[in-house]
Amino acid sequence: MYKIYGHKNILELFNKIITSGRISNAYLFVGESGLGKEYMAKYFAMMVNCIKSPKPCLSCNSCVQFISGNHPDIFFIEPEGNSIKVDTLRNTVISNAYVKPYNSYKKIFILKEAEKMTEQAQNSILKTLEEPPLHVLFILTASKMDGLLPTIVSRCETIRFTSESDDVIEDYLINEKNVDASEAKKISSVACGNYGKADLLTDEKYSSVRHKVGDVLCSLASHDKSLRLDSFGFFDENREMMDDIIDIMLSYIRDVMILKFHDEERIINKDMLDKLKVISNDLTGVKLNNIINEIEDLIFNLKSNVNYQMAIEKFLLSI
Ligand SMILES: [Zn+2]
Repeated sequence: MYKIYGHKNILELFNKIITSGRISNAYLFVGESGLGKEYMAKYFAMMVNCIKSPKPCLSCNSCVQFISGNHPDIFFIEPEGNSIKVDTLRNTVISNAYVKPYNSYKKIFILKEAEKMTEQAQNSILKTLEEPPLHVLFILTASKMDGLLPTIVSRCETIRFTSESDDVIEDYLINEKNVDASEAKKISSVACGNYGKADLLTDEKYSSVRHKVGDVLCSLASHDKSLRLDSFGFFDENREMMDDIIDIMLSYIRDVMILKFHDEERIINKDMLDKLKVISNDLTGVKLNNIINEIEDLIFNLKSNVNYQMAIEKFLLSI
């Protein structure tokens, strides 16, 4: 429980902060989704309030309360739907921050996906972030800085998260996800050092969709429009996974481009090499560019609430 895979530099930094006793009022953990920012935020919170050594001891009163999900002084705030609203912050952060911790060193507020705070919500915590009571610690996590007011960012100490090595991901998969060694090796080469991506790749449904996207791309190479429209069923059945499907398509096309112009060592989806080679032979560079443009149009149409069926049909037929 709470074993950390990778994050060596960040762990060193946490230890330095704790042993020096110089804990900032607010930290901002930044890095793409899937790199373990929330997990590390929880770990750091546990370290800060742990009363034994080495921290976190996982056995003191504070650690045990945290692990059981009942810590009275550590609060989690996350988006409801697509945003963190001002009322949520008023009810959790602002109403609580000025009251002393119940039985801990620090009262800690972990704001997950902080970039999803509305502007009003961000403004509402500015003053608390700027002049927090001594007992308060904020940990904000964000996959990107866009969306955060510069005044919020400047009040936080930023810690950047980057992707891990394939070895770390492999170790993580074997020990935490019970994946066998050869499969873990394959998955880690596709996961690009991202724990979240590795998790996804172990998911049966995701894995099956990922394989089918390869077939869909093959069918897009066909001149026969009715054959291309056959893929509509796939998009219809997997509507809720559309964001994943678009990511997978773009990742395959990137690889196909590499196969055309460079060597196969540099592709990401190594486990799909055979299928990617077929696509690479069937599609010219011009056609690949055409597909990328159509995917961009599809993303735009789906965001603009164009009827789903129409958006997909246009995508399948325009190429
Ligand atoms: Zn402890």
